[in-house]
Amino acid sequence: MVNRRGTVDLPWDLTPTGLMPEPPTCTNVWSLPVAERKVPRSARSGAVRIVFLGGLGEIGRNCAVIEIGGGPSGDGPDRKLLLIDCGLMFPDPDMHGIDLVLPDFTYLRENAERIVAVVATHGHEDHVGALQFLLREMSVPVYGSALTLGLARNRIEEAGLLGKTKLNVVADGDRVQIGPFDVEFIPVTHSVPHAHAIAVHTPQGVILHSGDFKIDLTPVDGRRTDLARIGELAKTAKDGRRGIRVLLADSTNSEEPGHAPSETSVGSVLRSLFAECRGRRIITASFASHLHRIQQIADAAIDSGRVVATLGMSIRKNVQLGIDLGVLSIPASKLIDVDDIDRYPPGEVCVISTGSQGEPMSALALLARGENKFVKLCDNDTVILSSHAIPGNESNVNRVMDGLLRLGAQVVHSGIRDVHATGHAQADELKTYLSIAQPEWYVPVHGEYRHLVANAALGTLMGVPRDRVLVCEDGDVLTVGDDRVEFAGRVPAGYLYVDGIVGDVGLGVLRDRAVLAEEGVVVVVVTVDRQTGKVLVGPEIITRGWVYAPEAEDLLDEACDTIAAAVEKSLANGVRDVEALERDVRRAAGKFVADRTKRRPMIVPVVMEA
Ligand SMILES: [Zn+2]
Ligand SMILES: [Zn+2]
Repeated sequence: MVNRRGTVDLPWDLTPTGLMPEPPTCTNVWSLPVAERKVPRSARSGAVRIVFLGGLGEIGRNCAVIEIGGGPSGDGPDRKLLLIDCGLMFPDPDMHGIDLVLPDFTYLRENAERIVAVVATHGHEDHVGALQFLLREMSVPVYGSALTLGLARNRIEEAGLLGKTKLNVVADGDRVQIGPFDVEFIPVTHSVPHAHAIAVHTPQGVILHSGDFKIDLTPVDGRRTDLARIGELAKTAKDGRRGIRVLLADSTNSEEPGHAPSETSVGSVLRSLFAECRGRRIITASFASHLHRIQQIADAAIDSGRVVATLGMSIRKNVQLGIDLGVLSIPASKLIDVDDIDRYPPGEVCVISTGSQGEPMSALALLARGENKFVKLCDNDTVILSSHAIPGNESNVNRVMDGLLRLGAQVVHSGIRDVHATGHAQADELKTYLSIAQPEWYVPVHGEYRHLVANAALGTLMGVPRDRVLVCEDGDVLTVGDDRVEFAGRVPAGYLYVDGIVGDVGLGVLRDRAVLAEEGVVVVVVTVDRQTGKVLVGPEIITRGWVYAPEAEDLLDEACDTIAAAVEKSLANGVRDVEALERDVRRAAGKFVADRTKRRPMIVPVVMEA
């Protein structure tokens, strides 16, 4: 495989599927040496560029750009940009006070006039959650399925941008001309209904973005990943156009061997659980956008003689959206308001809640703390967590489960029963996909670096030559030319941190917050007389998080004496400049604190002159 730094050996021993040391000989026509292939003249019409702004190296903030019309080098001034997804990422615990992380918009800002649209693969936050922030800066139309746009719409509406944003609904299989882009929306199965892969038909052949997908052969709605269409694209068409030039494929579960279980397998587990819980009240938690899961929970509930109530704002909104779009089917007579659940015997109620990730303010977390105003838990409740904790959320989820158990509820989670199925393709599905798509070049997307590397190994295993498997990272630019796909520089792709209002939190602020959180702060205030060169007032020390001041008077007195001595010495040497004096204070205070307590709080010196 090849990354930006050059060719690297595949870490064969890291791959989970017991790969053979040498990949089998490739039979894909596009893997033949260029000279042996017939490259049609029509293909020689300028390079196409692919720019990755997020999602390659982390799970979240997915955002890629396809560019055409930029001439032979691909980067000419006439090029146009098409965005595929614009998602957000939830912060790590060490990003103090950060609410969200977005893709860096610098490149998009610089090319705002060239952007023709955003196409959304599906309605998950890591794909559409940053749209509202982008749309604040520029007005571009958004394309996606009705459900995808319905889910994205809430956030766009919250930002007050609905009026000036054109939302274009596409149907499965639609091929839409968007400016110079010929874009096809191919159905795929995932953990939100109506997701799409995106095929962009370019002068350099088809660039296929898999979107988030799994190959679920028995999906809840019978709408399968359209492998037949992908196979059709892979064949060199009669007009001599190339097959799939570049495949960008979901890497999330590339380390997992085998095939992901079908979503419908969860339905049968739920049914037997509901049967076991006769007479008990059931509360479930799942992702609010996972309408197929919600459908299966509702079906199991209604079939076992229960009514259904939703708990939590997002699930209520999404259930209504699903019913309006015909994606969800729950008879109105069986859907009750959560206020009314006590009018039914516990064994005839099922509450469908949000909060499967243990989010502290979610309905389920409030329930686990006994603070939910609609539902109070008791020992006749069974709580089913029909979900899997996203990395980083485990401790929150564990805390919620402990709370539920303390209140006497029975808790069922995916660790003890198969009440969850992933929405992302595992190794065998990726291999199937690769064998059908037969891409000329393969670029793993959507994953941490190790997921990308594991997915790259699958590409090689399935016959894509090693030098045509490109492991890219956020910020990488690829040029798809007549003969090859190459790394062609970098664009800014750092994290954009959102705390309240977008854009005002940089790395410096985050570093300060980390010091404040871990070590505390020491403020030293001194007033000096410039004329006489004497300390007039202070030093006074105010601290939070270093030592608890009322219990450390002696230490603080000693610190004041040490700092006063340092300031007086400087003054005696003729130093009068406030900044220089502040440096002396910081140095003296920092040394004292480190020597005496082995801690490194933030030192804030304030020198005032009288
Ligand atoms: Zn995703
Ligand atoms: Zn997704």
